Amino acid sequence: MKRRLRSILKWGCTATTVLLLVVWVGSASVLVGSPLTDNTYVAVVEGRVEFGWLRPPGAWSDDGLLIETNDRPVIRWWFELRRHSAPPVAGFEVSVPVWVLSAPTGALAMCLWYRDRRRAPGLCAKCGYDLRGTDHVVCPECGAAAPRALKAES
Ligand SMILES: [Zn+2]
Repeated sequence: MKRRLRSILKWGCTATTVLLLVVWVGSASVLVGSPLTDNTYVAVVEGRVEFGWLRPPGAWSDDGLLIETNDRPVIRWWFELRRHSAPPVAGFEVSVPVWVLSAPTGALAMCLWYRDRRRAPGLCAKCGYDLRGTDHVVCPECGAAAPRALKAES
């Protein structure tokens, strides 16, 4: 059960990371955004997730989902907090780089993949051949050196 949960987590993190990276690259040339309330919106644009609070109501976009393409791809790499004060619009916008969001899921996925890569004790580290109960110095299957502890055991 624990193993299965780890497998789900591993694949979930991998899928999330890939998805975020696709969104990240895609957002360089396509803006996708939507108002959340009359005064707030969320958008993915230029490599970042942007959250904004603007006045008056509908200042950002009042016709729902907004999709815009950009001829020249732009990636912005870092966080940003902007104040908006071009009358009549006032408010603020905060941006979080998408790559920052993909870093923890990517790191976790890599750890889980690395963990699963290791063979169970008693098996050849390289090919997985069962070396238990043998006194092979090298794996008879692939020629890799057998673990020392195993040799001492038998
Ligand atoms: Zn082997």
